[in-house]
Amino acid sequence: MALTQLAQNLFVYHGAVNVGILRDGWRALLIDFGDGGVQDALRELGIARVDAVLFTHHHRDQASGVGPLAAAGTRIGVPVAERAWFADVDRCWNDPAHRWHLYDFRPHHLMLAQSIPVHATYREGDTVGWGSATISVLGTPGHTDGSVSYQVDLAVEGACRYLFCGDVLYDEGQIWELYSLQKGWETRDYHGFLGDRRRLVHSLRKLRSANALALIPSHGKVMRDPARAVDVLCERLAACYERYVAVSALRHYFPGMFTDFQSQATIQDQPDSRDDSGSQVRRPQDQLPVRAGKPYPGFLEHLGTTWIVCSEDGAAFVVDCGDESVVRRIQGMQARGELGAVEWLWITHYHDDHVNAVPQFQETFGCPVVADGSVAQVIENPLAWRLPCISPSAIHAHRRTQSGDSWEWHEFTVTAYHLPGQTLYHGGLLVEGRGCRILFAGDSFTMAGIDDYCPDNRNFLGQGVGFDACLELVRALDPDIILNCHVDVGFDFTDQECRFVRANLAERERSYGDLFPWDHPNYGMDESWVRCYPYEQRVTPGETVHLQVVLTNHSDGEREAVCRPVLPGPWQVQLVPRKMAVPPKTEQSIAFAFTVPRDVQPGRWLVPVEVTYHGRRLGQFREAILVLE
Ligand SMILES: [Zn+2]
Ligand SMILES: [Zn+2]
Repeated sequence: MALTQLAQNLFVYHGAVNVGILRDGWRALLIDFGDGGVQDALRELGIARVDAVLFTHHHRDQASGVGPLAAAGTRIGVPVAERAWFADVDRCWNDPAHRWHLYDFRPHHLMLAQSIPVHATYREGDTVGWGSATISVLGTPGHTDGSVSYQVDLAVEGACRYLFCGDVLYDEGQIWELYSLQKGWETRDYHGFLGDRRRLVHSLRKLRSANALALIPSHGKVMRDPARAVDVLCERLAACYERYVAVSALRHYFPGMFTDFQSQATIQDQPDSRDDSGSQVRRPQDQLPVRAGKPYPGFLEHLGTTWIVCSEDGAAFVVDCGDESVVRRIQGMQARGELGAVEWLWITHYHDDHVNAVPQFQETFGCPVVADGSVAQVIENPLAWRLPCISPSAIHAHRRTQSGDSWEWHEFTVTAYHLPGQTLYHGGLLVEGRGCRILFAGDSFTMAGIDDYCPDNRNFLGQGVGFDACLELVRALDPDIILNCHVDVGFDFTDQECRFVRANLAERERSYGDLFPWDHPNYGMDESWVRCYPYEQRVTPGETVHLQVVLTNHSDGEREAVCRPVLPGPWQVQLVPRKMAVPPKTEQSIAFAFTVPRDVQPGRWLVPVEVTYHGRRLGQFREAILVLE
């Protein structure tokens, strides 16, 4: 039994999450609950009744198994700010704003599949007496907006204090993942890489000053030296963020967000300047300088996020179409005789500001769409994907390219590439002709560097993947000019600058590696390393449904995965877990098939998926959605 005894009547059960067990004779109060595996431990401890479960935060892995207990009368206590995320989850799951055009990530989608009743809510300063213990509530937001920690003081054993801190931290210097910290304050959440680190650091300091004998996290190990655990994490968060800033494309769009990372001279003038984590502001001399723009050739037009290549005989090759006004402006150019037929539309990536107006574009100009295969799979069936900035309208790609596919278009040679930059689902297009080599790089770069500010886009760290692969390609292609859809000038990177950014990424692979308990940092950054395909699908009663759980093994060795989709209770159908060995650095899927019962209600049904990976139980780690019509 995976049980740690902290004091005579205080235990931690280590399952998919850690569960605190405060015992008083045959009764218990629990902190967090997980998938229900704790029941065996309760029996072993002679506990016949659970009076209450207090939750640190609303995530599904904390609470997925508590339904039967709640139905049997156990009182459920939750953070006041997250009440609705326990008691009224349908509202969130049915809200299109929680599904499409995702730029804001509150609440986080790791929400319960079914609501549970809430009997009490807790906020900072509340105390709960239970048996001989006193439980005090600390507000510790960061991992989620309303996260709280529970400080347990055991009077009977002298001064004896333990702190159950949810997912504020995982272990000394580590967090479970960083995508839940993706929050915008000055901007939308989408632009807020590690955006909640300040609130997290504030929460960490609160934990530190409680002077507990140990911190007990939801995921991770019991920490017997809370001060050190916190200090090392604050230091690492600051270092990781600084590495990100050093080459971030966002310095071009939102320079005001980075005023703490000014020139070296500014820092030397203020030797005591510190950031919110308490760390000395580091020397920023190893930032990529923000390059000057350069003019683009006269045969290009830039409208909104659209670029147009105009051939000598007037034909147009269009890149992206995010807004209807672009369609009208192209029509205007044609009416004035400035532009002839629109012959191709290349889509750089699936983000809505690049594809929103493609249906109108196709209706108006009737030209074929061409996209990299990775992009085409998303835009042709967006219902099957849950990704940031995704548009619900499906677009047929007439031609799916692979890296290196090349063709002649009027006086130009056009070559398509997979460019896993701003997103994994992204292409690059090299257009050569009229004495120029132009790389249409979508949103992947600005003059300030690389666009990796939303890890949900799947920006992998590692040699030969993600931006490392993109920069290798840039060096190999050596374009005269790189064009970003949002930037009205061109730019380029020297070989030295490419090397600099790649060195930064290699260093990040190490330093982010220290930040997470995983054997590769991509697990802590790539929320989609386990995903369902299709994410959402329409089904009918009696139909056989096919659902895949797709796993990306970011490790260097083979990893075993065991998965089980948990079909909705009223369906009375349960699937057996299936196992698969996933080779290193590959993506593999485990396929499930099941029949939709004929007597279930129409509606939107959540199907959480239980995952065990490399022997580690992750609980209901991801989900799929079935829409029964
Ligand atoms: Zn969590
Ligand atoms: Zn984009």
